[in-house]
Amino acid sequence: MSGESVSGDAKELSAKQIRKRKRREPPPDPEHTRGLVDAHTHLAACGGRTAESVTEILDHAERVGVEQVVTVADDMVDARWAVQAAHWDDRAFAAVGLHPTHAADLDEAARAELNEMVDDDRVVAVGETGLDYYWTVHSESCADPVTQKDAFAWHIDLAKRSGKPLMIHNRDADRDILDVLAAEGAPETVILHCFSGDIEMARECIARGYLLSFSGTVTFVNAAELREAAALTPEDQVLVETDAPFLTPHPYRGQPNQSYCLPYTARGLAEVRGVSPERMAAVLGANARRAYGLPLR
Ligand SMILES: [Zn+2]
Ligand SMILES: [Zn+2]
Repeated sequence: MSGESVSGDAKELSAKQIRKRKRREPPPDPEHTRGLVDAHTHLAACGGRTAESVTEILDHAERVGVEQVVTVADDMVDARWAVQAAHWDDRAFAAVGLHPTHAADLDEAARAELNEMVDDDRVVAVGETGLDYYWTVHSESCADPVTQKDAFAWHIDLAKRSGKPLMIHNRDADRDILDVLAAEGAPETVILHCFSGDIEMARECIARGYLLSFSGTVTFVNAAELREAAALTPEDQVLVETDAPFLTPHPYRGQPNQSYCLPYTARGLAEVRGVSPERMAAVLGANARRAYGLPLR
């Protein structure tokens, strides 16, 4: 029992306190949706810092049909950790790289370590890399655009050398993402995680054969253009992800996100594309397994 009495205190809580309390509350379980793969999550940031807590998160996900996840690195500490998590539980796979905001950390030692890490059997992608021009103006510690482009080019080369997919983070940098990829030459598999571009960007990425991975943002009330992009993406180029612990799908926006919330977004995509949730989940799961080379469970 907690010290709070439910009925008495409820009246005294301000509207702001109630909203704050709700933001900490995990969303309820979605309807079971078989065969899904979370194409991009951050297990450590979701509270999975030990083998037990990782297994707990993945058990919860599996109960609603999310069978495998790709946990993605932000920085070097996170990269080592992601590889570890992928060895702890056979439902987890890792992506290693430096987030564009940390691009300045890509020194000789980091390059050497990433070169080695990428050969690990449990590492299925290089990333997240790319360009983030939002944080260059909103954070003093964010790498500048030139440093970001250099690091992005290096990760593109790493993906090509290793034969593993390139996982791209793009924020407010549509044109430069396309330009750097064209200049360097794209690897065989390119994934635009948490796709956020406009329709023109979507068309260009589709024409180039890239995969568009949609997160909870596609379910947001004000995301009509994103839904349009999701509707026109060919069936073999669409992926779904949580990017947890952020971007919790509607109507739970702002609450904590985890891989078990993936079916909300998968079902949202099914609606947008006019197919059954079962059919959508089968397509999304198959696409992720093919892109990352995951075994069937
Ligand atoms: Zn990202
Ligand atoms: Zn991410």
